Amino acid sequence: MSSIIDALLASGRKGGVASLAIAAALGAVTAIDYVSTNGFFIALPALALAFVGVGVLLLVFGNPEDGEFKLKERSPLDPAFEDRLVNTPKPYFVCTDCRCICEIGQCDECGKGSNTVPIHDDEDLRLARTAMS
Ligand SMILES: [Zn+2]
Repeated sequence: MSSIIDALLASGRKGGVASLAIAAALGAVTAIDYVSTNGFFIALPALALAFVGVGVLLLVFGNPEDGEFKLKERSPLDPAFEDRLVNTPKPYFVCTDCRCICEIGQCDECGKGSNTVPIHDDEDLRLARTAMS
């Protein structure tokens, strides 16, 4: 059983899709069982839910490039970028996604405004650092 889970985890998003398919199949078996015998084996829906959980996790976090299950891990802030954060005259904006300093509230690199935070003082800078680490 755990080797099936391992194989699914190792195949990233594809594993997620497979996992949801298994969950759907188990759900169907449960439904057929219930309709035909007016009862069902309780482990089946429980197992189906477990596969739904694994499937959703894989779809969200599964990395399609290297096919590995891993949470996004951020590298520590570049010291040169830290210096720029401290030395750039305020106010300015920082894109916490691209880690770049922007003049307006829209990132020059990714074009998004949702990840840019305004830096007015040291407290803003502290919060932005936290968001980037
Ligand atoms: Zn950006």
